Amino acid sequence: MAILEEPIKNITSVQNYINDEWVDSKGRILDVVNPLNNQVIGKVPVSTREELDEAVQAAQDAFPDWRSTPPPARARYLFQLKELLEENFEELSRIQTQEHGKTIDESRGETRRGIENVEVACGIASLQMGEHLENIATGMDEYLVRTPLGVFGIIGPFNFPFMIPLWSAPYAVATGNTVVIKPSSEVPFSQMKLAELVEEAGFPPGVWNVVNGGREVVNGMIEHPRIKGLTFVGSTPVAKTIYEGCGKTQKRVIAQGGAKNFMVIMPDCDVRRTIAALFTSFFGNTGQRCLAGANLIIVGEDDKFYRNFMDQTVALAKKMVIGNGLDESVQMGPIRDKAKKENVLKFIESGMEEGAKVLLDGRNVKIKDDYPDTCFIGPTIFENVELDMRIAREEIFGPVMSVMRVKNLDEAIKICNESNFGNGDAIFTASGNSARQFRFEVESGNVGINVGIVAPMAFFPFSGMKDSFYGVLHTQGKDAIRFFTESKVVIERWF
Ligand code: NAD
Repeated sequence: MAILEEPIKNITSVQNYINDEWVDSKGRILDVVNPLNNQVIGKVPVSTREELDEAVQAAQDAFPDWRSTPPPARARYLFQLKELLEENFEELSRIQTQEHGKTIDESRGETRRGIENVEVACGIASLQMGEHLENIATGMDEYLVRTPLGVFGIIGPFNFPFMIPLWSAPYAVATGNTVVIKPSSEVPFSQMKLAELVEEAGFPPGVWNVVNGGREVVNGMIEHPRIKGLTFVGSTPVAKTIYEGCGKTQKRVIAQGGAKNFMVIMPDCDVRRTIAALFTSFFGNTGQRCLAGANLIIVGEDDKFYRNFMDQTVALAKKMVIGNGLDESVQMGPIRDKAKKENVLKFIESGMEEGAKVLLDGRNVKIKDDYPDTCFIGPTIFENVELDMRIAREEIFGPVMSVMRVKNLDEAIKICNESNFGNGDAIFTASGNSARQFRFEVESGNVGINVGIVAPMAFFPFSGMKDSFYGVLHTQGKDAIRFFTESKVVIERWF
């Protein structure tokens, strides 16, 4: 099968997009590396505080006119953006694969999920409607309007370079705010391309800005007096810092953190379809998903069921085609970079040292077309895993499945709830009763019933609990509309 063309052909310098202009940063420059072959494909700046200030100033200056633009007119810019995103669908997807490593189909899924957020935000005239009660006292009416606040900062992680800023940005601008986006500096090209399309869609200068960089920019956003709030998606330690920082500077914040998701298998599940769902959950995106399956809990004492289930899972995982994500026949790409791969390898070693049994070892895996083994790891499956092992407790962020056995569903739910995380747990069963108990008792923001990747659609909030989420309102859908607006209540009478 043909390998698709790489969209980034020469080493490309990423610029900031401020006030509708593409500007070079004066900050130090980092390499952007393609994880497939470790080749440098770009240069990205670590922007300075002054450059952040310029972007915030542009966003602040754009705010009065933008918030005065009627919502249906604001929506028209988003409709235009949606058209351009569709026209550039394949290129956007190939950029994600080249900078991140994921397979082209995974990238297409990411592009689609990102666009869906733009589509939902196009309905802003209905979404932003307030509430009204007439005659709260004789001759008096009371109503609520959802008013925008000003400039918002949006900070993205490396694992969904295109989609995740779109969990926030379309809602922020649709409601009349302006934004400064800081992509992960490991994968800056998707947001660069998106900003090019924003520019082509004709958004007024300063409404949508992109400032590349790292913690300097993030800390600058937390401290900036003109920024009203932040949305952050990334690891738990950083999410915690951002949540606390925004508390200190009185900013509203959504801080989505890391995960360790449990997939609970009941003996009455549909084995074939369950294994197919687990396959994409644990190994899709090379395990680098906040909603990836991490721990597999098999319920019941039926050894025959257990052995058969695991044999089939291992057999399927062994057949997985690993290689260049731009090859349509490839099912799993590399880990994003060498350091991340090293981290996953250390977890695999720790699992062995702590006494888990390796059913499938993904180290030294065979790679299609013999690409040099820079960042690849194949599916790895451990059994006899205990909850106190590091591989069961900590986020690995790689294609590693840790399998545990328990006697009954109560025990399985107890184990899920002992985790510090609560992002996307799922049960596989034919029993409505078991499903209901799981849904009711499990402490997880997103819950799957016979679904392995519990990613909420754009019109639902992207939830999370415990150390997977700090905040009140979530990104996406109506929650995002509430987050990006203040409720202004008017009590009115006329003499
Ligand atoms: P990360 O926390 O390292 O980085 C996220 C962002 O924060 C990046 O833009 C980065 O430049 C910035 N950053 C990094 N360190 C910082 C610091 N010390 N101070 C300020 N800013 C800092 O996360 P990552 O490795 O890019 O992404 C993977 C993590 O994101 C995983 O833990 C994954 O579970 C999580 N994630 C969560 C969700 C969710 O919805 N809960 C979704 C996707 C990813």
